[in-house]
Amino acid sequence: MRRINPETNSFFKQGDARKDGYRFSCYLLNKTDSNGFYLERWYSPTVYDNYKTKANNLNKKNNAKKQKTRKTFINDLKVKSGCVDCGYSKHPEALQFDHLPNFTKHFEISKSHLKPMKEVLDEIKKCEVVCACCHAIRTYNRRKLNIN
Ligand SMILES: [Zn+2]
Repeated sequence: MRRINPETNSFFKQGDARKDGYRFSCYLLNKTDSNGFYLERWYSPTVYDNYKTKANNLNKKNNAKKQKTRKTFINDLKVKSGCVDCGYSKHPEALQFDHLPNFTKHFEISKSHLKPMKEVLDEIKKCEVVCACCHAIRTYNRRKLNIN
């Protein structure tokens, strides 16, 4: 079984600090001590900080790569579709996803670079690609007609 953190009365969480400054990493679920408690991995503050810094840098690198791939995919989709109102398709930055009024918008496609691909594709299905000008006109007309 897992030893309980006496300060929180629940299981230790990654980063919990001991009095000597050591930080909790994990329970070793395949090893127990003579009392049946799982052994634990604790790191000195220096080692823990290095480990965290490395993990954060790796995450940043992976996220940047993922964002770039996603942006390329979304830009390709926009340009291939072109504006459904006027046909413009020259530059992806001038093309936008317009959420159609009969669907519930969960998030903006342009801010979805770290979301799971399935969620993004489901959200894209609720949209039409339009250029910035046509999007502005659509939004104006919807406001005028009071359709959100
Ligand atoms: Zn247009």
